[in-house]
Amino acid sequence: MATSNASSQLWDDPDTIIRTSDGMSIRVHMKLLAMASPVFNDMFGIPQPTKEGDQLPVVDLAEDSKTLEVLIDAIYPDRYPSTPVELSTLNKVAAAAQKYVMRSVQAFVAHCLRTTSYADSPLRVYAIACRCGLDDVAVQCARSSLLEPWPDTLPPEFEDLSANSYHKLLSFRRRCEAVFDSQLDSESCESYEEFAYLSSRLPKCSKCPQSSYGPLTGPPALIAPSWFVAHLHLAKQEFLQRVDGSAVMSPELVNKTIRELRKGEAYVRCDCDTVGPMKLLEFSHLSARILDRLLRKVPFEVDEIRGDSDSMID
Ligand SMILES: [Zn+2]
Repeated sequence: MATSNASSQLWDDPDTIIRTSDGMSIRVHMKLLAMASPVFNDMFGIPQPTKEGDQLPVVDLAEDSKTLEVLIDAIYPDRYPSTPVELSTLNKVAAAAQKYVMRSVQAFVAHCLRTTSYADSPLRVYAIACRCGLDDVAVQCARSSLLEPWPDTLPPEFEDLSANSYHKLLSFRRRCEAVFDSQLDSESCESYEEFAYLSSRLPKCSKCPQSSYGPLTGPPALIAPSWFVAHLHLAKQEFLQRVDGSAVMSPELVNKTIRELRKGEAYVRCDCDTVGPMKLLEFSHLSARILDRLLRKVPFEVDEIRGDSDSMID
């Protein structure tokens, strides 16, 4: 049988064997585990079966060796698990810490989530943070997740995410996506001057075809040259993929509209093809600024994610 020794030089007389779900044996000190977890404390109060040829009591646990090695290392005073811990393992450690009510391990998970950059996995970290009741991490991840398209397949950590936390994350994203259209409201501007400036950046032309942009029913948000309205639709698609001001001023997006603008024969008798590109650039920069400001104002209330965990970590 494979063995792994979780004790250190300071703890050289382990008195219990933990057997993992994948057949590893980890030698531990019963007293230390009992001190770290009321569940283990109760468990060790019951005489444990010993295995033939091995004098130490053996305790079978449902977790795998990767998870239990990190969990056990986290409670020994003189050794800390090496970081970064891979996220799928960290999620299992968080689940085990919750199950065995191990506050020191929960604190270790919190430390990992707060100090390790899992920048490419905001949704996975969000789910673990909700499980641990780490509001600050969850809110940060909710904001970071806006920079990525919403995935077709949700990460495995979402299997343990409460419906409440899932709903709050999704509704936060929807509210953020909605700021694209509200940028055209006069109320979204910081001042009348900004609105006047925004309005002056909207291309106007009496010669080329016009379209309206805005809700299907009710008054349109604006009526503008069709090429510009087409640009707004393209910009919105970009923004829904990357919910951030930078999405609407990407050179690819702006150049695409300028190419379309110059292709259209309808524009030969107006000056959209000469004035349009500059108006478009100015509008895009201003729009990005307004969008970023509106996004910062969309709240993700911390009490919205409460309820996944009853043991809050400070
Ligand atoms: Zn025109």
